[in-house]
Amino acid sequence: MDLKKLASALIPDDCLIDPAKYEEIYPPRKLPEGAQVTRLAPSPTGFIHLGNLFSALADERVAHTTGGVFYLRIEDTDLKRKVDGAVESVIRSLKYFGIKFDEGAEIESKLNVYGPYYQRRRAEIYRAYAKKLIEQGLAYPCFCTEEELDEVRKEQNAQKLITGYYGKYAKCRNLTEEQIYSNLDAGKPFVIRLKSRGDASVKHTFHDAIKGDITVTENDQDVVLIKSDGIPTYHFAHAIDDHFMRTTLVIRGEEWLSSLPIHIELFNVLGFKQPVYAHTSSLMKTEGETRRKLSKRKDPELSLDYYRSAGYYPEAVVRYLLTILNSNYEEWERKNPQADWREFKFRIDKMSRSGTLFDLDKLSDISRTRISQLSAEECYKFLKGWVDEFGTEADKLHFADESYVIKILNLVMGTGGKKRRKDIERAEQGVRLIDYFFDDTFKPQYAFRFDQKTVNEVLLGFAALYDPSDDNSAWFAKVKSIAAQVGFAAEMGDYKANPAAYGGSVSDIAEILRIAVTGSPNSPDLCTIMGILGKERSIARLNAAVRL
Ligand code: GLU
Repeated sequence: MDLKKLASALIPDDCLIDPAKYEEIYPPRKLPEGAQVTRLAPSPTGFIHLGNLFSALADERVAHTTGGVFYLRIEDTDLKRKVDGAVESVIRSLKYFGIKFDEGAEIESKLNVYGPYYQRRRAEIYRAYAKKLIEQGLAYPCFCTEEELDEVRKEQNAQKLITGYYGKYAKCRNLTEEQIYSNLDAGKPFVIRLKSRGDASVKHTFHDAIKGDITVTENDQDVVLIKSDGIPTYHFAHAIDDHFMRTTLVIRGEEWLSSLPIHIELFNVLGFKQPVYAHTSSLMKTEGETRRKLSKRKDPELSLDYYRSAGYYPEAVVRYLLTILNSNYEEWERKNPQADWREFKFRIDKMSRSGTLFDLDKLSDISRTRISQLSAEECYKFLKGWVDEFGTEADKLHFADESYVIKILNLVMGTGGKKRRKDIERAEQGVRLIDYFFDDTFKPQYAFRFDQKTVNEVLLGFAALYDPSDDNSAWFAKVKSIAAQVGFAAEMGDYKANPAAYGGSVSDIAEILRIAVTGSPNSPDLCTIMGILGKERSIARLNAAVRL
């Protein structure tokens, strides 16, 4: 058969260049010895998940600790799954967690010479290579319809055979020249398939950078390379792209292990050097007695948006993922609690080989610890970031007053002193903590434990005495004087010695003031709160709780 003629009949584009030229267009990268080129290659489905961040973190670490490159490639061959804005959302989500690409789709970089980084824009390269494989007798057209393929599948299932297009089931593999041209003349749609030379009874040892030596069976499936609409399959496109984008290390989920034999054969027939593969184990969660993979349908925590909208501290998510990526990370962090996580020496070969347990409680715990260690300015920045995207209009207004909010955070989060608050794991909890400092969100439900007459006397009495320039002890002396004025014990000792002699104690007076000013019997230091609120607002609150 005249294969050159066949290739032109199947792929008539005469503008295609000699595929060998791509070697010049995309020359090997000039990088230091040992530098690794890694990539994240998501489909633009709009759903960016924890698994993506998990791999991206490994990709980014490996590339950046070896002086290499980490790039973003969009695998958009399946248009049905394409969602507008998905690419920006990948970039934004990863950036939120501190992961940046050096080059790739929508990344501004002078390094972008290995693009286009959208597979749909690379059709010519795939077609040029498909054409070459046809000329070499390594690929052929297949005219089987969906119905015919279904029949074959049923027959294979009935005989408990491996399903697929191989051996005697690869009906179009041996079509005669006449049959092919008559199908083409009849306008029958066709796909281009690999003419596999593999033998499924042969096994090889393959070195995976995470899993170590594994056994792989040779591929014998005549997989589709180019679909009937001219678009390549993932298998074909990724092999060509990883070669010409000069990827040295492919980190991807272990669900791709079953396709590895196909990929090995593709690299061979294309004459490309295979990159190193590293298959990450799936993220699992425990459910009762069993473990299962995190699922998109059942587990909201699989989506990266979950962490952003719930307001976990982004670095806590990264640090948590590092603990499950490398088992020695935790110990390193214990020894270097304040060090930047980027200083940790990440090792791909230290990654877990089988199911990685994802523990949201542990992540929350890390988030609480990290938030508790923030300075007021850092805390403000973190909370404001959440507010800008997810907060109410009131939250946005509140956070517009940076110096006021920072003063509040110093007090409520303890960021200004040693007693730091350690129970805030998500931004929203922090944002709600400051609501009562603003009149529009201060909605007190006064629950005084004393008769209103006493309450009024305390409130009005203290309002008359309050002076914002008083220090803590002068302020407290005034609280004591009000206690004495309403027949409460000014000294706790006196009250404890003879409670019946008093209406209450100085601490009850403070509670009345606290409820009036903050709406709650529990709050941080009241004198400081009043100082932050300012004289006018403090006195207005004392007055507002008076009932005649
Ligand atoms: N597009 C594939 C995915 O969405 C990429 C797999 C790979 O990293 O090679 O998972």
